[in-house]
Amino acid sequence: MTNLSNRIHVLWSMLTFQSKHCPYCQSRATRRIGSNAYLSHVRECADCHLMYRWPKQTDKFNKVFYQLNYIRLASENMHLPTLAEAGDLVKQDFKGHATALGIKRDLVQELKPSGRLCVYGANWGYEVAQLARIGFDAIGYEVSLPRAEFAARLVVSVLTELDAIRAKAPFDIVYCSHTLEHLPTPDNVFKLFADLCAPTGCLVIFVPNCGGDNARKHGLRWGPFSSSLHPLSYRADFFKHALPKYGFRSVSSFSDPYDLARIHNLNSQDNLPGDELLIVARKTPACS
Ligand SMILES: [Zn+2]
Repeated sequence: MTNLSNRIHVLWSMLTFQSKHCPYCQSRATRRIGSNAYLSHVRECADCHLMYRWPKQTDKFNKVFYQLNYIRLASENMHLPTLAEAGDLVKQDFKGHATALGIKRDLVQELKPSGRLCVYGANWGYEVAQLARIGFDAIGYEVSLPRAEFAARLVVSVLTELDAIRAKAPFDIVYCSHTLEHLPTPDNVFKLFADLCAPTGCLVIFVPNCGGDNARKHGLRWGPFSSSLHPLSYRADFFKHALPKYGFRSVSSFSDPYDLARIHNLNSQDNLPGDELLIVARKTPACS
């Protein structure tokens, strides 16, 4: 988010006396846990354990922001490649590029060797392309129109209408990497995941691990913890509390570096020290 658009949003929210209720469960039992920015602070909900920035972001603001502003951010996977670069990336299987999935691709295959797969928050299609390459029948959803359109250059399909994605369900894998921290609330997305995921399928979520060693050591000073780009902050306990309400009866949690055998067996880690949190949720507890 640009500084100016963020300041306008913060000031508008303060002037309109935005409530401090939890943006997910609407509980009033929330407390301020600290601040890392002028005028805004971070709160934690005592009921669902979600952490969120206040003033809270809204769907309307996010929709405009992700169409117009996000493109200006300076991380490599946010910049659209040129047509020639896209061709090279596909030819070289994304090797050495910031968007290469690496162990995450192996990890998905540990859960399901093949099948129908949906990437939620597909950006310009790099994950869909890499997962399709190892045999998944893969498709994506992305809120940003220019990014979704770019995916055609990787010869993959990324849709921008939720109804169109719902019409393609069920999926054996629903994959969502570093997207949930950008949302105003995860409620609608969890409902969508429940609609998309097959009864024997796996929901695979990656987010910054705000319960990891660095998050605990540095608190809000840890970069990925909370920012205008990351209005929501998660620890594993939030997902264990929330996902069963959407029919995901089995919720397993892991952090990097990943142990593939452990993930295959859905053998949750007791300690989650890494910077990234992996959640694998299933409607039926048994492994595939
Ligand atoms: Zn809550």
